[in-house]
Amino acid sequence: MDTVALAERYARVKGALPEHVKLIAVSKKRTAEEIQRLYDLGQRAFGENYPQELRDKQPELPEDIEWHFIGHLQTNKVKYIASFVHLVHGVDREALLDELNKRAATSGRTIGVLLQVHIAQEETKHGFLPDEIRALCAGGDLQSRWPALRFRGLMGMATNTEDLGQVRREFEGLAALRKELIKGGTVNALLFTELSMGMSGDVEEAVAAGSTMVRIGTAIFGERG
Ligand SMILES: *Cc1c(COP(=O)(O)O)cnc(C)c1O
Repeated sequence: MDTVALAERYARVKGALPEHVKLIAVSKKRTAEEIQRLYDLGQRAFGENYPQELRDKQPELPEDIEWHFIGHLQTNKVKYIASFVHLVHGVDREALLDELNKRAATSGRTIGVLLQVHIAQEETKHGFLPDEIRALCAGGDLQSRWPALRFRGLMGMATNTEDLGQVRREFEGLAALRKELIKGGTVNALLFTELSMGMSGDVEEAVAAGSTMVRIGTAIFGERG
């Protein structure tokens, strides 16, 4: 891999982001060596999709990396990442909250979570429906139900379409839902601050709609092999 090209792409991606938007470098399918190169350029937050792959790479890399799990997480794989993961972006069902809470408590730590919302016009994307999130929150204080978790906000993936107006409206819907939940009072407004939305192809629309975290792989590392 060409380190100069990596540095240029990284600088371009970072340069296009407002300062308040956190960059999660998506390193799925990248080797520990590639990740180390980006780390050496200053990046600390990395996102991974595959639990075993993350479990295997984590010990080979610096301890101060902040690991984000951004993909669909099977309940029986939580154990591979619970002892070190910082934030789990794609939490889409209560059974997963239960398992994350249990494993976090066993590890004597807390784990940050983002509730994933199905905002796309596609069957394939995971996530709670907005009404399911409303019902979950209406059931009472989330924090007391899952005390080892920290509810940090929402995550969503927009429809994969050329219609960027639609993409933007979907992201705006997610931002509006976060505000509504805070008003409802069952999430902690001081913690429920994050909106994880935007990837290489739709980052501008996401930022315009209020994203606080973008998950970018290809635009930094190049096409996945
Ligand atoms: C792969 C992936 C990304 C990054 O996608 P790029 O197009 O490589 O930027 C972001 N979010 C999720 C959930 C992903 O699976």
